[in-house]
Amino acid sequence: MKLSSADVLNSHLKPLCSRDNRGMKYEAGGSRSNTAHQASYHCGFEGCSVRYDGTDGYYMLIGMPEHANPVDEPGVNVAKCPRHGRWLYRRENAELGPGFGWCCSVEGCDYRYDAI
Ligand SMILES: [Zn+2]
Ligand SMILES: [Zn+2]
Repeated sequence: MKLSSADVLNSHLKPLCSRDNRGMKYEAGGSRSNTAHQASYHCGFEGCSVRYDGTDGYYMLIGMPEHANPVDEPGVNVAKCPRHGRWLYRRENAELGPGFGWCCSVEGCDYRYDAI
């Protein structure tokens, strides 16, 4: 089955970690540190295991790489894109400070949500 463009995570984003506001790195699905088939962003700062993708939003990946279980981050994911139904990612907002701007992860989507 071919994925539609809305299902592909944009690999040029700079999402911030929900815990420490560090920049997260893109990992293609099926790579060594990302055994899921789906691409996601991974924080990795000082062993931080927060991940983000548009389908699940922010979550932790707990356990060994071969047996990692996703664990929800309660209260972190605040809104979905009304056009794509994807969880928004946290991104730096120059006016409001780090962690206050939310954007859709689908390539070409300019939906913005600014949390106060
Ligand atoms: Zn982190
Ligand atoms: Zn969107």
